[in-house]
Amino acid sequence: MESSCIFCKIIAKEIPSTIIKENQSALAIRDIHPKAPTHYLIMPKMHIQSIFHMQDDHQMLVGQVISLARDIAIETEIAGFNLIANNGVSAGQSVMHMHFHFLAGANIYEHGLQL
Ligand code: 5GP
Ligand code: ZN
Repeated sequence: MESSCIFCKIIAKEIPSTIIKENQSALAIRDIHPKAPTHYLIMPKMHIQSIFHMQDDHQMLVGQVISLARDIAIETEIAGFNLIANNGVSAGQSVMHMHFHFLAGANIYEHGLQL
């Protein structure tokens, strides 16, 4: 828990969010400003700033993040989805807690999506 981190506060339920699904190590919430018909944020419950900060012993943890994306995709029977992580301010990361944007319902490449 990083006390200044908005996603840590969401994970601790100190800030409300719409929870889509969770597993032991990961949480999926609805993005507050959706950029696609389906736009979720999937994050590790542990505070890791970005993929740059991922340690080798986080591999199981990050695997659980990807598994949660898989479970949501299968259970909601979507035909396809995009999973995108912005890493670093220069790549567009604005919340410094690792997360993947789970996007579905529109072709992001046709729509020139900006996250
Ligand atoms: P980034 O720009 O870091 O890749 O993505 C951060 C995402 O978090 C943005 O899409 C933004 O809309 C979302 N976001 C920021 N603050 C909140 C919040 O308090 N609640 C939720 N659900 N999403 C948030
Ligand atoms: Zn955090």
